[in-house]
Amino acid sequence: MATFDILVLPGDGIGPEVTAEGVRVLEAVGERFEHVFNFEQDLVGGAAIDALGTAILPETIEKASKADAVLFGAVGGPKWDNPNASVRPEQGLLALRSGLGLWANLRPVTAVPALIDASTLRPEVIEGVDLLVIRELTSGLYFGQPQERRVVDCRREAVDTNYYNEDEIARIAHLGFQTARGRRKKLTSVDKANVLASSRLWREVVVEVSRDYPDVELEHVLVDAMTMYLIRRPRDFDVIIADNMFGDIITDEASMLTGSMGMLPSASLGALGEDGLGLGMYEPIHGSAPDIAGTGVANPLAMILSAAMLLRHSCGLEDEARAVEQAVTDVIETGLRTADLAAPGEPTLDTRAMADAVLKRLGS
Ligand code: NAD
Repeated sequence: MATFDILVLPGDGIGPEVTAEGVRVLEAVGERFEHVFNFEQDLVGGAAIDALGTAILPETIEKASKADAVLFGAVGGPKWDNPNASVRPEQGLLALRSGLGLWANLRPVTAVPALIDASTLRPEVIEGVDLLVIRELTSGLYFGQPQERRVVDCRREAVDTNYYNEDEIARIAHLGFQTARGRRKKLTSVDKANVLASSRLWREVVVEVSRDYPDVELEHVLVDAMTMYLIRRPRDFDVIIADNMFGDIITDEASMLTGSMGMLPSASLGALGEDGLGLGMYEPIHGSAPDIAGTGVANPLAMILSAAMLLRHSCGLEDEARAVEQAVTDVIETGLRTADLAAPGEPTLDTRAMADAVLKRLGS
């Protein structure tokens, strides 16, 4: 019987509402497959600012670093919105990412047949879409120095630096190839090698790493072309790797393919062991949705699918992860809907009832 320690950081708004359902699903998986999940809960974001005056305590990051995985809700809301405040909710998220060294962000995007009409794209374009974007998360344009604004000759100017070294690129490339190996064996590397030196190094290192994975097909696509291909022929992609900024943009574009924010999970991973497993942070891609917080209507499925990613990437429990994903697919296919997914006039389930439907299919 395997035991896993999970740090739960519900955060703000609908964060606590959906996180509670993610925890229930993990408990049900523990019961059905005979694993023990030990949960410890802590504060992050606005909740931590209100209680402690800071978006996260160093002790919380320390606890996270000792856990097997972190289940994270969402942070932020109008109460803490002042952009000039010195303490802001998202500092908690950024401190966790850098404190835990989470350098890769994984966002799977799968078209659920029963929800295809929720997308703004035509059904024949998105039918069968099953892709995974891996974004580099701790280097590149968002971290490179100098990053500053200054006045030179009485004129304002600003500079950002897109710094990458070969190790940062190689680890993302390895993760991309290894992940593609477990899927349809195709890797698309996104860059802007026709213009940027950092992209030329990116491409060079990806090609070098590709020699270890002769069984995986590699293609390079310029980022501007990629934004077109993602909406013209998204089915052609399997695993996509991209640097921090390009990844930021194409993950949001890719997430719109399914048309429903409440369905999309994500994982942020750091150092991985020989077995490909390691500490990770798992969260839905949506935010704290202050407009519906407290009403009990939030869709818990993105959080439940994030819990499935936790089982896969931090616990090595592939069968259990698939069981959760299948349970989610089943509830959608039987026509159950939360308000965000329902067509006008369709009956809807609240957060708890939707999670109950998933639990029922998991056998609890
Ligand atoms: P949001 O994702 O919170 O909400 C966008 C829209 O989608 C809203 O109408 C909301 O009701 C709906 N929505 C989101 N999740 C849903 C769910 N599970 N079920 C049903 N409907 C859902 O984005 P926003 O409104 O731009 O941001 C609100 C707050 O969240 C801001 O403070 C923002 O900074 C924060 N935020 C946090 C994170 C994070 O913690 N990782 C990510 C994005 C935004």
